[in-house]
Amino acid sequence: MNRYSIKMRASNKEEGHISGAEKIIPEEELEQYCARLLTRALRHSKGKPDFINLKIEAVREEEILHLPALKVTTIATSSPEEGMEVVLDYLRRLGLERAEEILALWKQSYCMRGAMLLDADTLRRLEPDRDRGIRATYMDMETEDAERQSACGGKNHFNEALVLATKVVNHPNILAELCISDDPDYVTGYIASREFGYVRITTLKGLGSPLGGRIFLFRGTDGERDDCIRYLQQQKVLVHVGDKASTPAAHSRVSHESGKLYERKGTNPVDKWKRMEEELQALREQHLYREIKVIESPQRAHVRYRGRDMLMLASNSYLDLCDEAQVKAYAAKVLMEYGTGSGGSRLTTGTGICHTQLEDALARFKGREAAIVFNTGFAANSGVIPCLCREGDVIYSDEKNHASIIDGCRQSRAETVVYRHNDMADLERKIRERQGRQGLIVSDGVFSMDGDIVNLPGLVELADAYGLLSMIDEAHATGVIGDTGRGCEEHFHMEGQVDILMGTLSKAIGAEGGYVCGSRTLTEYLKNKARSYIFSTSLSPVTMAAAKRALELIEKEPWRVERLQENISHFCGQLREHGVEADSETAIIPIRIGEEEKAVKVSARLMEQGFFIPAIRYPTVKKGEAMLRAALMATHTKEELAAAAAAIAEAIDYCGGC
Ligand code: PMP
Repeated sequence: MNRYSIKMRASNKEEGHISGAEKIIPEEELEQYCARLLTRALRHSKGKPDFINLKIEAVREEEILHLPALKVTTIATSSPEEGMEVVLDYLRRLGLERAEEILALWKQSYCMRGAMLLDADTLRRLEPDRDRGIRATYMDMETEDAERQSACGGKNHFNEALVLATKVVNHPNILAELCISDDPDYVTGYIASREFGYVRITTLKGLGSPLGGRIFLFRGTDGERDDCIRYLQQQKVLVHVGDKASTPAAHSRVSHESGKLYERKGTNPVDKWKRMEEELQALREQHLYREIKVIESPQRAHVRYRGRDMLMLASNSYLDLCDEAQVKAYAAKVLMEYGTGSGGSRLTTGTGICHTQLEDALARFKGREAAIVFNTGFAANSGVIPCLCREGDVIYSDEKNHASIIDGCRQSRAETVVYRHNDMADLERKIRERQGRQGLIVSDGVFSMDGDIVNLPGLVELADAYGLLSMIDEAHATGVIGDTGRGCEEHFHMEGQVDILMGTLSKAIGAEGGYVCGSRTLTEYLKNKARSYIFSTSLSPVTMAAAKRALELIEKEPWRVERLQENISHFCGQLREHGVEADSETAIIPIRIGEEEKAVKVSARLMEQGFFIPAIRYPTVKKGEAMLRAALMATHTKEELAAAAAAIAEAIDYCGGC
C-alpha cells in the first residue's frame, strides 16, 4: 500500500499556533484528507490563519514500524493533587528513586514546544535545544478508513496521546512518558511505560489551566540518546489500536478514591512484584538489563533497525538462508497446500509428510540411519539428555556447553560432572574416578560463544574406551565447518563416529527446530520417551519445508559454505591487522572486552555507525567476561568485513581499549 505522511500547521500573528495535525494515510485518501485539514485550519475557533503549512511526504512500507497500542488503565482521581500522587506512585514502582524531583521538573516543560528529555537517574536535561524540546512525530493510528474519516474532523485527545505514548515508550531507552495537555478544557493526563502501559489519570490539573507539558524519561548512553532522538523524530510508526480504544470508558478502571493503588481485600499485590522490580533494578545498575531489539526487515546481511540500514554481524543465519528466494517460494507453495499449523503433537496428529521428508533428508545429509525433529534445538537437548541418562548414571559435560545441555543434565537426575573446557586430560581423569558407570559425554561441536571446535578425536576415543555414549551439539557446526558444511565429523574426517548428533534448523539452515541424527534404535527410543517431543505440538509444515529446501541448497550450491569459510579467514585477518585479537575457524568470532559496561559502550558505538553487533554479557557468559560476538554470513562482502573490522578496532579504542 502506498502511504503518505501529512503534517499541517496553521498560525496567525495574534494567536500564534492555531491548529495542527499529522497523519499517515493511504494514497487514495490523500486528496480528501488534505481538503478536510484545510477546512479545519480555515474554520478554527481560534481565528483565521495567515500561514498554513501542509507538508506531504511519501512513506515506504518498509520504513514503517507497526506497534500494538499500549494497554490502557484509567484511574479516576478527583483532584490534581490526588492525580500527582498516582504519578508519583508509578514512578516509584518503575524504580525511579528521584520521583519527587522529576515531578518538580515537569513544570519546567510547560513552556516548551516539545517534550523534555530527562535522564531518569541524574536528572540531566538531554534535549539539544531546550526551548524547542523533542517532538515525537511521524506516527498515526492504524484504523479502518471510516474511523479515520470521523476522527479527522475533530481532535481526539485520547487516541492521539495513546499513539504518541506507544511510539515513545517503545524505544528501549525510554522508561516512561509523563503528559499533561495544555488544552484548558482537558484535565486528564497520563503516565505511560512499557511495564504498566498507558495509565490515564482523570484529573491531573485544574479546569481552565492552559499549562501542560511532557517529559520523556531516558536511561542510556550518549550514543543511545542520539539514537533515541532520531527514533522519536524520524521513525515512522503505525499503532494498531484495538476496537474499543477510542472509548476510554471501556478500559479497565481502577478506583483511586482511597488514595492507594490496587488495594484489594486480603491481598497486597504491590508486594508480589517487589522482588522482580528490585532484581530488574539491580540488573540495570550492573549493566546486565536486557532489551529486545526489533528488526524491521527479514533476517539477512543487511537489516533495517530503527529505520536504518545496518550491516548484520550477529545473526546465526550463517548462510543467509532466512530470506532466500528458492526457499521462500517452496515454503509458500507448501503453505498454500498444507496450511499453517500442524494441529497436534508428533505422536497424535502432528506428523505430516513434510515432517518425515525433512527427517529423511537430515539423516541422509548426516550419513545416519534416521533422524528425529524436535520443535527447537533447546527442546532437543533438554528432552534427549534426560531420556538417555537417569539417576545413577554420569553425564560428562564441557563447562562451556550451551544452556539447553545444562538444563537437560539437570532434568536427568544423573550425576553431572563438568570438565574443563575442551580439556581431554581433565575429562579422562574424571571418567576414571567413576569408571564402570553408565553414561554420556556431551559437548557443543562449535562452542556457541567462543566459536572454537570440540576436540572430537579425543572425545570419541574416550567415549569408546570407557563405554560411554558420545553426543555432539552441531548447532553452530552444520553448514559452517567441514568441506561441504556437514559439521564436526566432516571437519575431522571422522564420519559416522559420534553416537548422537544433535543440531538445530534455526541457524545456518535458516528455519526453526532441532534434530537428532543417529541409529534407528536411538530415534525410536526418543520417539517413545522424549517428553519435549511427545508433549508439544509439532512445527508447521511450512517450517519443515523451508528447512528441507535449505538443506538441499547447501548440497546443490556449495558456494555458500565456501564463501562463509573464506569470509571467516578474511575477517579474522582484518581484525588482526587492526590489532584486535581474532582467531576462529567458525562463523563465530568473539571479541573480548571484559567489563559489561565497556562492552555495552563499544556495541553502542558500533550500532551508531551502522554495524549490528550486540554485547554478550552474563548470564550468557561469565561475569566480567563480556564480549562482542561477531557472527559472519556467506553473503557479507570482503569490503563490508574490512570496514567492520576497522570500526570494531576504532570503537574499542574510543571506549578505552580492552
Ligand atoms: N545448542 C546450541 C549450541 C545453541 O547455540 C543453541 C541456540 N543458541 C541451541 C542449542 C538451541 O537451539 P534453538 O535456538 O533452535 O532452540
